[in-house]
Amino acid sequence: MPHSGIQLTEEDITGIKADAIVNAANNSLLGGGGVDGAIHRAAGPGLLAECRTLGGCPTGEARITKGYNLPAAWIIHTVGPVWRGGTQGEPELLARCYRSCFSLALEYGVGSIAFPAISTGVYGYPKKEAARIAVREARLALAQNEHLAVLFVCFNSATRLAYEEGLAEI
Ligand code: ADP
Repeated sequence: MPHSGIQLTEEDITGIKADAIVNAANNSLLGGGGVDGAIHRAAGPGLLAECRTLGGCPTGEARITKGYNLPAAWIIHTVGPVWRGGTQGEPELLARCYRSCFSLALEYGVGSIAFPAISTGVYGYPKKEAARIAVREARLALAQNEHLAVLFVCFNSATRLAYEEGLAEI
């Protein structure tokens, strides 16, 4: 994965050759549907075996594993909030997911990191609001580490549009 800064792409995250890809996991870290299922299928059974040793993950936090059969060296698993109307601390919890991921990326010397649109699938977080938080937190991380490459993986055109709008805001 190329140059520093923020980029958007519309690929399947499991094929991305970044140092780390982020998984939108659930609290068990034992796999699920959506991007989580796709990552476990592509990474192979070694991933589930390592995840079983982690004892789950609270919402807003993150855990790191090896990438197994993926092109990415690392998988950073984070658990986004379920959208319950926006009054249950969802924006802060989602921001914390991104911060937790960037913090692990720094700790593990990750130079490039690819994110799915955390919480915007089954967890129902509105795409525009989620993209705004993702972009804001990426900019804060880039202010700390200007060499970092951040890739936002948009799985559909509505997600891409949400990120484009988020990036256009100051
Ligand atoms: P959550 O439970 O956090 O909402 P989901 O996996 O349901 O997680 O959805 C998160 C986002 O990941 C959604 O925008 C969904 O379209 C996207 N997504 C699903 N599969 C993939 C994939 N293989 N690569 C990239 N993004 C994906």
